[in-house]
Amino acid sequence: MSDIEEHRKKIEDVTLEMIKLLKTRTEIAKKIGEAKASLGMTVTDEEREDALRTQVAKLCKEIDLDQSTASKFLNLLLNESVKAQSDNKQTHLSMFLKAKALEEQGKEIIHLEVGEPDFKSPKEVKTALAEVYDKGYGKYGPAKGISELRYEISEHENHLLLGFGSEAEIEVENIMVCPGARFAVYLAITTLLNPGDEIIVIEPAWPAYKDCALNDGIKVRTIKTTLETKWEPSVDQINNAINENTKMVVLNYPNNPTGKKLSENIQDNIIEIAKKHDLYVLSDEIYSEYTSTNFKSVLEYNYQKSIITKSFSKSYAMTGYRIGWVVAEPSIIDKMSKLQALSLTNVSEPIQYVALQALKSDEAVAENSRIIKSRLEVLAKSAKDIGLEFVEPDGAMYLFAKTKYKDFDATKFSEKLLERGVAIAPGEGFGDYKEFFRLTAIDETRLIEGMKILDTMLKEYHE
Ligand code: PMP
Repeated sequence: MSDIEEHRKKIEDVTLEMIKLLKTRTEIAKKIGEAKASLGMTVTDEEREDALRTQVAKLCKEIDLDQSTASKFLNLLLNESVKAQSDNKQTHLSMFLKAKALEEQGKEIIHLEVGEPDFKSPKEVKTALAEVYDKGYGKYGPAKGISELRYEISEHENHLLLGFGSEAEIEVENIMVCPGARFAVYLAITTLLNPGDEIIVIEPAWPAYKDCALNDGIKVRTIKTTLETKWEPSVDQINNAINENTKMVVLNYPNNPTGKKLSENIQDNIIEIAKKHDLYVLSDEIYSEYTSTNFKSVLEYNYQKSIITKSFSKSYAMTGYRIGWVVAEPSIIDKMSKLQALSLTNVSEPIQYVALQALKSDEAVAENSRIIKSRLEVLAKSAKDIGLEFVEPDGAMYLFAKTKYKDFDATKFSEKLLERGVAIAPGEGFGDYKEFFRLTAIDETRLIEGMKILDTMLKEYHE
């Protein structure tokens, strides 16, 4: 055998051996995951991971291997473990599907778990649906969206910014239309980051940021915030989560599930830190129009590496239309639009026309926002009356609460409550919050009815 042949054979043998080891590793990770779940432990143990990272760095020095590559590879392996261990979490979505299955059997359910407004979309939508055929919208179009809609969205954003006293100028080139904010989040994470990179997610959080990152081989650094600190992260927590592989920090305010805004001071600090470390800031501002107090958009910082996601789903009550948008620098939009073109060509043209008309419905949005605010007040009062512990929401549509009972298992409780006809979202779907659950501010009569059942059930559950 020639030298080359011999070396090739060795590389092949090592590769095959590695693949066998990876399979064993995944099987062991699954078992560890099951054991952790039965002990009520979280999947990720950052301290343990850091200790491993230090060991890897030391080994790299000894064998003269590039540290950054090794650390990215380690992130990939850790991610595979997290994926193998995260299979059986209950989320708002899994509860919703269970509730739907019960409804199909004829059971009546009060949906306090859903993340969608229960009122109708604006009347402009109905008219637009009736006229879109004759208007001839129904062809392929540009991946970034039809120019009329991109222009109107840029004007809409400028109008909002002016209202907040900001001078940031949003141009058509800064806008891309997407099939919902969820897809926009996916595009941002997938196209701007590489496998082995790291992303910071402040928890409790809507699960998609983490899931998208996991799906892409990106390591998630979670920052756990607490009820006691009013769901605010500290500057130290953010700084401690950053290393040379960190590429993005995700913000979502008003927040799903807590309804909290960030205090301006901490938000300013986070943007400063992001600038210093050249990080992308993915700011999901889908609930910005459902806020009772002044809201400072990340757009106001004029930071080149920010990506803001918005949607017609919540403020326009158009969840099923699947349409939203992104605001970012044209170079970022270009990257994201390439994957959008590749995966879906363009957002449905008739739906873009309908969204264009919906943008004219300022009054409906203001009314929806008023209704949600009043429902949130009713929800907060009722939650207080039955002794739940929570931080008063500043906006969005939710309240994130726990009970006074020690070691309360909200997942088990949610299952029992569903049998009584009320669906709620268990806290474990939003991070390490097994004692908490999220309640949605739905129509007041149903809301009160649901809260009564929840109260009765809580008392029975602890007798
Ligand atoms: N971001 C957050 C924080 C959400 O709560 C949701 C929906 N629950 C979305 C994005 C998804 O929005 P869309 O319907 O526009 O995809």
